[in-house]
Amino acid sequence: MTRVFNFSAGPAALPEEVLQQAAAEMCDWHGTGQSVMEMSHRGPDYMAIHEEAKADLRELLGIPDNYRVLFLQGGATLQFAMVPLNLLRGKTAAYVNTGVWSEKAIKEARRFGGVQVLASGESSGFNHVPPQSEWQACEDPAYVHICSNETIGGVEFHWTPQVAAPLVADMSSNILSRPIDVSRYGLIYAGAQKNIGPAGVTLLIVRDDLIGHVQAGMPTLLDYKVYADNDSMLNTPPTYGIYLAGLVFKWLKRRGGLAAIARQNAEKAALLYEAIDTSGFYRNPVEKSSRSLMNVPFTLANPALDEAFLKGAAERGMTQLAGHRSVGGMRASIYNAMPLSGVAALVDYLKEFERSHG
Ligand code: PMP
Repeated sequence: MTRVFNFSAGPAALPEEVLQQAAAEMCDWHGTGQSVMEMSHRGPDYMAIHEEAKADLRELLGIPDNYRVLFLQGGATLQFAMVPLNLLRGKTAAYVNTGVWSEKAIKEARRFGGVQVLASGESSGFNHVPPQSEWQACEDPAYVHICSNETIGGVEFHWTPQVAAPLVADMSSNILSRPIDVSRYGLIYAGAQKNIGPAGVTLLIVRDDLIGHVQAGMPTLLDYKVYADNDSMLNTPPTYGIYLAGLVFKWLKRRGGLAAIARQNAEKAALLYEAIDTSGFYRNPVEKSSRSLMNVPFTLANPALDEAFLKGAAERGMTQLAGHRSVGGMRASIYNAMPLSGVAALVDYLKEFERSHG
């Protein structure tokens, strides 16, 4: 078996150990004679998997007792609508705009109520997170929304805003990459397909008091309370995805938890950014203090070489390095499952390509 170094932004590489375990358990989970995919979601075997995934996640993130862990579907994109529908309560929502994903969240929220954009990185090409000292004031907003890591622009919050209203964060592309203080947030959401597991599961961590206020007349499944009251199982949850997420949580625990994974992520990112910054041939446009440790966009001195770069990378077993279709260039996503050896191989290739084409 040959595995590539997959630099995709998502669905992204999963830990090989996890895939091996899932493969070994595929047809016969723990002697039950069936796959997790085939189990009743109300049966004791699946219920145990579900409970363990939640408990391991709570342990990894140190989630306080007054927060619920919910598994939904519809991706982070559905949360762009569910957050305002559940939290607005007729008030204004405040958003910080750090790039493409913030903009999508803002656009969706505007369909349901008043939105004030407190700060935007747009005028500087979204090359940094606007410091909180530059944010506008907002009179009693229902919540303040940030995208903690802009997957396309490679812009990350390395600090937690201090706000009076509940802080809501789209953590799709940096959840579980480092320890966070959950108590500083009202609600955290993330699509699974980067640092959690396969696409199809959306993770929500929400403070109790923010549950139960959905706008009247909404479909049942758009109400956080319905998920909270039914342990995310009013209807059939994405069972196999939750099982795989649970295996990823156990893998993270075996690796020493989030403090240990954060050290590795910092080391990987430092290696890659250093190779880019010292080259003169590659360029990353983001201010150093806002650079993402998960998604590293970069351009070549001559875009006409992009194709040759990608071809050479693929020949060396490195895939999915093309930047997002909206921005072009390159992007290396180096989530938890990307080993240091993958980043080292990319750095070697960056140098080799520059020598031969620079
Ligand atoms: N937010 C961020 C930060 C993302 O990176 C993505 C997906 N790349 C989304 C939201 C949308 O997620 P989904 O495809 O799960 O709806």
